[in-house]
Amino acid sequence: MPFNSLVEEYKVAKARLLLTLRDSSDEKISGAGIEVRTGRKWSVKQAIDQAESSLNLQDIVGTTNKGREGLGIRFKQRWRDSDKVERRSMVQTELRRAEDETRSSRSVQLGSQGSWMKWNLPERQLTWQELWSYEPLQLSFLLRSVYDLLPSPTNLKLWKLSEDPSCPLCGNVGSLRHIMSSCNTALSQGRYRWRHDQVLREMADILEKERKKDRPLKKTGPHFINFVKEGEKKSAKSTGTGILHDSKNWEMLVDLGKKLKFPEEVTHTSLRPDIVMWSRSPKLMVMVELTVPWEERVEESHEIKKGKYPDLADTCKERGWKTWVFPVEVGCRGFPSQSVWKMLGAVGIKGGARNTAAHALGKAAERASSWLWLRRNEPTWQPS
Ligand SMILES: [Zn+2]
Repeated sequence: MPFNSLVEEYKVAKARLLLTLRDSSDEKISGAGIEVRTGRKWSVKQAIDQAESSLNLQDIVGTTNKGREGLGIRFKQRWRDSDKVERRSMVQTELRRAEDETRSSRSVQLGSQGSWMKWNLPERQLTWQELWSYEPLQLSFLLRSVYDLLPSPTNLKLWKLSEDPSCPLCGNVGSLRHIMSSCNTALSQGRYRWRHDQVLREMADILEKERKKDRPLKKTGPHFINFVKEGEKKSAKSTGTGILHDSKNWEMLVDLGKKLKFPEEVTHTSLRPDIVMWSRSPKLMVMVELTVPWEERVEESHEIKKGKYPDLADTCKERGWKTWVFPVEVGCRGFPSQSVWKMLGAVGIKGGARNTAAHALGKAAERASSWLWLRRNEPTWQPS
């Protein structure tokens, strides 16, 4: 979320002011000993001293690498070699970092409001433009569901506004998680299936558009490297990469409405992946299985779904079909997992189009969830 605290902005602004005055090239100003008032608890001077000594220490520690990064891949501005202007911005960044750290350590302490810290999902950028275009109710649902501040039965009990913390449908403990993803009554009524289908429809739409696109075929046969002569520009035209680019005639089936029947020319099976795309020549087969889980369970669902189709995939491969299986998850509060990006990239949706597509999928899940939330007290379920 793009919300920095007001306190952070205040601290940084004060620090900027003090630094500008202290390091002024006009001796009358820098020597005047001007104090910047900031109240009793927090002193801007101390904060700057701390930030500067921390930056000094970072110089001594040197540049460190993360994971499997190569040496020298990270550039680090060094305190010692920086001029006044650079130092000023470095101190401000350092202050922001420290603020951010306090914020996250506080989130870790909070059990339910901070549970998003445990999600292993790509961050979602909510821009101001988007904030303006959100419907108020929808935005409120997004923010409050992420931080578990919605008036679910357990929260109402906690806030002493009601006596009964049970789910209106089944009578079990009615936490937000229960209502959104693990109520057995809601499951048997088909509420979760409905949400799943909403997201699936969006995904099918995205893939269908990509399928219908006119794509230049990849050349087969010997592959030549075209050298670019001196002074010549490399031609920007390139044939796309991705599974869909390997054939021109793709067929697609989606498990919506009437039950999907696995293409008989490939193999006979009673299994029904959510989306099946195949091409006869060359023999290619893509299966997509979608889950809309509670965000904390994304990895678990991925593993479960991964174990569902290896036999089917092996059978297809034995019959000469090159096969891909993509289990993908879109968190029920609108957070697509890494597997979504991976799948989109693999079929050939790249760059900005990929971001837009993932975003649309998240939005679909979020909208459906907020609808389920609004109708949580209705005993019967009639999908509209
Ligand atoms: Zn329930």
